[in-house]
Amino acid sequence: MSILDRTACDLRDALRRGEVSAAEATEACLAAVERLEPAVHAFASVGADAARARAAGVDRRRDAGEDVGLLAGLPVAVKDNMATADGLPTACGSRILRDWHAPYNAHVVERLLEEGAVILGKTNMDEFAMGSSTEHSCFGPTHNPWDTDRVPGGSSGGSAAAVAARMVPLALGSDTGGSIRQPASLCSVVGLKPTYGRVSRYGLVAFASSLDQIGPIARTVGDAALLLQAVAGHDPRDSTSVPETDAPVPDYLAALEEPVEPLRIGVPKEFFGEGLRPEVERVVRDAIATCEGLGAEIVEVDLPHATDYAIATYYLVAPSEASSNLARYDGVHYGHRAAEAADMIDMMMRSRSEGFGDEVKRRIMLGTFALSSGYYDAYYKKALKVRRLVRQDFDAAFERCDCIMGPASPTAAFRLGERLDDPLAMYLSDLFTVGASMAAIAGVSIPAGFTDDGLPVGLQILSGVFTEDRLLRIARMVERETHLTDRRPPVCEEPA
Ligand code: GLN
Repeated sequence: MSILDRTACDLRDALRRGEVSAAEATEACLAAVERLEPAVHAFASVGADAARARAAGVDRRRDAGEDVGLLAGLPVAVKDNMATADGLPTACGSRILRDWHAPYNAHVVERLLEEGAVILGKTNMDEFAMGSSTEHSCFGPTHNPWDTDRVPGGSSGGSAAAVAARMVPLALGSDTGGSIRQPASLCSVVGLKPTYGRVSRYGLVAFASSLDQIGPIARTVGDAALLLQAVAGHDPRDSTSVPETDAPVPDYLAALEEPVEPLRIGVPKEFFGEGLRPEVERVVRDAIATCEGLGAEIVEVDLPHATDYAIATYYLVAPSEASSNLARYDGVHYGHRAAEAADMIDMMMRSRSEGFGDEVKRRIMLGTFALSSGYYDAYYKKALKVRRLVRQDFDAAFERCDCIMGPASPTAAFRLGERLDDPLAMYLSDLFTVGASMAAIAGVSIPAGFTDDGLPVGLQILSGVFTEDRLLRIARMVERETHLTDRRPPVCEEPA
C-alpha cells in the first residue's frame, strides 16, 4: 500500500516496525503537496526543509533506540492560526499578519513536537477563522478535493482539504462555531471538536475566546483519537484548560473497538427542519437507521434553542469577543503597519483598514456595537442568557440519550463564490454546529455517504462534556458500517 493511502495508525505501525522511515513518509507527503497544491491550495505555507530535518532526526533517534513519541515520524499539518516559532509564519489568512512570525510555539505545537510529529506546513483558513468556506483568506480560496469548483467548508478548510486529498494523514483545526465539523462534513473526513477546555488554547490566535477550541482532523476515527491523545490535557498557561484532577485524559485508542451498549441516540427534530437539503437528510437518516439496525435505541429529543437561537446569539457573542480580541492589531504590536500616516491615530486606522478583510471588519463593527454602552444589556448580556438556555437544552437531552445525531451541515459543498456576497447565507452553514459550540460540549463529524452528485455528507454526533472517549467509540461503530475511509477524492486520481 502506498504511504499516502495508509491511515495515520497504519503508518505509525509501519514506522515502528521499520518498514517505512520518517524521511520516506515526509517525502511522500511533500511530493503529494507539490502535485496537488495547484488544484487544492490547502496550505498557506509549507516548510519542506524543516520537515526533512525533523524527519531525519526522528529516524536517527529511533535507530538509536530512543523513545520517539506517540506520533513519531507522522506528517501533520497545522491550521495557520496556531503559533509556530521556527520558520513558518502564523498569518491567520490575514493581510495584517501575513508575514508575522510567532516568537513561541502554541501548546498544541509543542505537544506535536514532543511526540515526534513532523510538521509539514500551515493550512489555509478564513481570515481569523471567520467564515464557512475558506474563501476569506488573503492567500485565496482552498478548493474541495471532491469537486475543485466547490468550497471545502471553513474555516479549517485547508486542514480538511489537505487530509481529504491525502497530502497529510493528520491535521489540526480549530472550531469556534463549527469550523472543524462543517469542513470535515464537506470533505468526507473525521473532524472532532473537543469539549471546551480539553485542549489548551495557548498560542491559538484568539477569535472568540469562550468558544475557540482546537481539535483533530483525520481520515479515520482511530486517527482522530490518536491526534487528540497527543494534544489533550491541562496546560497552566490557559486558565480555561481543565485540570486532570477534574477531567483526566483517558486512553482514547484503548477502548475504541468496544461497542457502546446499550446505546440511546437522541434525534432532535430541530436538526431536520427548515434549511436542510433533502439529499443531505437522506444520507444522515440512513446512517442513523444503520445504528438502529445495530441495536441502538432512537429517542426523540428537543433542542428548542439550539438552532435558530444559537445562530442569532452566536453572532452576538462571537463578534463581541472578536472585536475585543482583535483590538490588539493596531499597527504597533503586531503585523502590518500603514506606510504613511498623519499621526498615531491615523496610523492605527489606516493599518487596520488595510490589514483586515471585509468579513473581519463586519464582525468588529457588529461586536463593537453589541458591546457599546446602552446596548450591552440588550444584546450581549441577553445573548449570554440564551446561551445558558442552549446548554440547558443539551443537558436535558443527555439525560435521555447517550449522544445526539444529525447533519453537520445543512447542504453539501457549495460552489466557490456562491455565498460570498450573502453573509447571512454563509452564517447559516453553521446552523447545526453552533449549538454545540455555544454549549461547550463535544462533537464530531464523520463521513456518512455521498449525494447523487458525488458530494460528501457528514454525520454529526454530539455528546456531553468530557465524553470524547465514548463519542469516538460511537463514531467508530458507525465508521465500521459505512466503509467510506478508503474512498479517494477525484483530485487524487487525476494525472499530474
Ligand atoms: N462559520 C462560523 C463563523 O464564521 C464559525 C467559524 C469557526 O468555527 N471558526 O464564525
